[in-house]
Amino acid sequence: MPDHQPPVPSTERKPLSLPQKALRKMGLLRPVDMALHLPMRYEDETKLGTLGSARDGDNLQFEAVVQSCQVVFKPRRQLQAVVSDGSDSCTLRFFNFYPNMQKALEVGRKVRLRGELRGGFMGYSMMHPTVQAAGSPLAAALTPVYSSTAELPQAYLRKAVQGGLARALQSDAFTETIPREHLPPRSWGLRESLQFLHHPSPDVSLAELEDRSHPAWQRLKAEELLAQQLSQLQAKRERQLLNAPVLALSTQTDGVLAQLQAVLPFKLTGAQTRVVNEIANDVARAVPMHRLLQGDVGSGKTVVAALAAAQCIDAGWQCALMAPTEILAEQHFAKLIGWLAPVLQPLGLQVAWLTGSQKKKERDSMLAMVENGEAALVVGTHAVIQDKVHFKALGLAIIDEQHRFGVAQRLALRQKLSDAETFGEQATGAPQEPHLLMMSATPIPRTLAMSYYADLDVSTIDELPPGRTPIVTKLVAETRRDEIIERIRAQLQEGRQIYWVCPLIEESEALDLRNATDTHQDLCNALPGVMIGLLHSRMPQAEKKAVMSLFVQGQMGVLVSTTVIEVGVDVPNASLMVIEHAERFGLSQLHQLRGRVGRGAAASACVLLYSLGEHGRLSDTARARLRAMAETGDGFEIARRDLEIRGPGEFLGSRQSGAAMLRFADLAVDTELLEWAQQLAPLMLDRYPANAARHVERWLGGKSDFLKA
Ligand code: ADP
Ligand code: MG
Repeated sequence: MPDHQPPVPSTERKPLSLPQKALRKMGLLRPVDMALHLPMRYEDETKLGTLGSARDGDNLQFEAVVQSCQVVFKPRRQLQAVVSDGSDSCTLRFFNFYPNMQKALEVGRKVRLRGELRGGFMGYSMMHPTVQAAGSPLAAALTPVYSSTAELPQAYLRKAVQGGLARALQSDAFTETIPREHLPPRSWGLRESLQFLHHPSPDVSLAELEDRSHPAWQRLKAEELLAQQLSQLQAKRERQLLNAPVLALSTQTDGVLAQLQAVLPFKLTGAQTRVVNEIANDVARAVPMHRLLQGDVGSGKTVVAALAAAQCIDAGWQCALMAPTEILAEQHFAKLIGWLAPVLQPLGLQVAWLTGSQKKKERDSMLAMVENGEAALVVGTHAVIQDKVHFKALGLAIIDEQHRFGVAQRLALRQKLSDAETFGEQATGAPQEPHLLMMSATPIPRTLAMSYYADLDVSTIDELPPGRTPIVTKLVAETRRDEIIERIRAQLQEGRQIYWVCPLIEESEALDLRNATDTHQDLCNALPGVMIGLLHSRMPQAEKKAVMSLFVQGQMGVLVSTTVIEVGVDVPNASLMVIEHAERFGLSQLHQLRGRVGRGAAASACVLLYSLGEHGRLSDTARARLRAMAETGDGFEIARRDLEIRGPGEFLGSRQSGAAMLRFADLAVDTELLEWAQQLAPLMLDRYPANAARHVERWLGGKSDFLKA
């Protein structure tokens, strides 16, 4: 190597081995990370059992003498050996085996075996047990089993973790950060807990280890929950140091807000009034709001958004409203134009519309209005956050159905909106951010709100507008389709409208489409003379718009659609929703869909058509979902059950990515520790900021930025 080149660190020079690469891929880089890669279960190799005292399903280690050993071909090539330990005998089966295995299992030889014991009509058997020489020393501690991948053999990983743990324990990586007097009661030390969990002594209860109720596990969970609380609280406090425009409540009687209030066709519910006030107070402060507005489908979030927008415009700032789909954005646009345009026009202000499918000419004129400030309100899809969009003075950003946006999009939004050029120059020179209002119809169960969403302020609309009749939900087998068509006919005669939703078949959009087109054709045949529309995501935007507007105006009786109507669509005269292949939908999706009806005074119904599929039965989770739908219409209860069925990972969707997920703590059982962490976090940040920083670094490394999105 020529000597003018800088020395390359040795780790860079050698190509990584397969297991090394696998370690890297699992994020096991620092000794700390290795030490925190805790076993998912343990195997007990410290004792010997006997066949006579074992039961079906036991993980058994025992010593026995080989009675017979041969290769058989029934049903496929395998090595079969019968062993006996005096108390009983057991058949061993190996489908993959080396010649030396036959040696090890020579008739008459005594061997030590370990594996899962199966009891059956033909006596005990064991598949692929580990085979060792009898009489070798027993393990002194329970053997940890780590989650791993195919490229990463357990033995290699065990060694790597052991090395990492030893190095981490030698360094100051795991010195205590939590002040002793604030530890949870009866808490173990951190280093002691780690050491123990990787090498538990044989006398410990396996059950306590496995259900993670052991004090060592409790300690790790406490640490983890605290890290999560700290990082979120920190994010919140950092945000509070930023400046935001003061959107003071106008007292003018001819202001935009006052005029909007005057034209609203209904009186706000108590819950709406409460959240409107919460938001109004927030945005009137010079600190960026970061608030989640949650309210069940149909609870009336749009008007709350409109009132906040009006307050913002009165204060002389622009407001942006972003929705996840074009149809939804379109609906918002139509509604807001209706409410606000008459008020804004005399002031020389406009409502702008931005979407991906827009013609260039129209878009350019919209962009110009956004930039020169003529657009007081900008409504659109994620086109709103594109690079070319420059606000003159953005004061408030509202995201509807926020859970439909991914982490990256939310992050892009916040970064974009904190662009210096997004703002008018402010005298203070401090960083600027607009206020952020996120809306969601998927309520967050309490424990999730306390953990993953701890950095947000939450407003909840817990009351539906008056005069709604509850939606009756029926589960109906696909074979009774004809009855449903009769029902549709009856509803149509009463002047009502109907949604028919076709399933999403994930593997193939083409199949999806055929499904919807076929259903559309069937319904047209069955209901001659009725206008029946078809809506799916592959249609040109203009056609979608035309179909939707016929339905909104009431000329169209039935709308057959894929899930494009899932969010936000609002047609109060629709009173029946049929969901085909309901067993394929997620719970919150079903709830969202159902929320499209029951928006007017008429009694509404939702029919969940299910088919049993090729196995002739529904899966357990499908059954649980459908049952939940039939049993409750309450969005909070639905969310709770959804969390139960899916677990937080999937429930959180894209928010889960990064290191944000809890690995050890389980929100369903660790509520007390969660509360402890929630109380301790502010105290740690105030009184022990250095410890807090160390704690977060240890757990989240460089990844805590992701949590702020
Ligand atoms: P969501 O919370 O699902 O976004 P929307 O904002 O679409 O709900 O409101 C659902 C329907 O209820 C709309 O037709 C809306 O105009 C109506 N609405 C909202 N608030 C009230 C109220 N206080 N009284 C009567 N109707 C209301
Ligand atoms: Mg909505």
